[in-house]
Amino acid sequence: MRIFCDFDGTISRSDTTDFVLTALADPAWHEIEARWESGEIDAAECMRLQVAMIGGSETDLNTVLDRVELDPHFKNFVLWAEANGHPITILSDGVNHFIKRLLTREGLGRLPVFANVLAGQAGDWGLEQPWMRAGCAGGSGVCKCEVVRTTAPETEGPVVFVGDGRSDFCVSAKVDILFAKHRLAEYAAARGAEFLPYETFADVTATLNGFAAVPAKQACAV
Ligand SMILES: [Mg+2]
Ligand SMILES: [Zn+2]
Repeated sequence: MRIFCDFDGTISRSDTTDFVLTALADPAWHEIEARWESGEIDAAECMRLQVAMIGGSETDLNTVLDRVELDPHFKNFVLWAEANGHPITILSDGVNHFIKRLLTREGLGRLPVFANVLAGQAGDWGLEQPWMRAGCAGGSGVCKCEVVRTTAPETEGPVVFVGDGRSDFCVSAKVDILFAKHRLAEYAAARGAEFLPYETFADVTATLNGFAAVPAKQACAV
């Protein structure tokens, strides 16, 4: 089993970038958000424009990040997966520096992260998007379906994805086991796609632990 997890709203309780923008950017960042919501710009451009609006020093940024709360059950989920030999990868349309700092705080800095890359320096932040793919329906800075396709060898068994939002739409139809909540659950339900509802990583751990107890073929069919 190979596990991929979204970050914002899935591992973190709120959207980390929005949390940083609320604390350190001109309120005009909401106008950029509205342009994305209306479809005028895609998610990738929205992120580039918003990250460029983050003010304050690097210390200010880190102080704000340190207030972001994670799902308290995520760490135990990682320990369970590692103990059972299931690699976990973080796939996020957020910002790598933010995610790495939060994971490191929890003692989980070893997890691989695919996300937009923070560039520049305080007062002049920019964003690089090495995982963007033209043609991805999501229009995100990180095409999650492409990362899964290129990094999950079939020999590692079923692919699990845990997510909650729009940036997960592109990957959600291409995995074997989908855990979904909020917007992602609505999307999967509207498409008639099978998914497992969850609220916290305690639910995800319990469900996957149940699969591990049945023969592999049955688990794959779920
Ligand atoms: Mg999310
Ligand atoms: Zn994609």
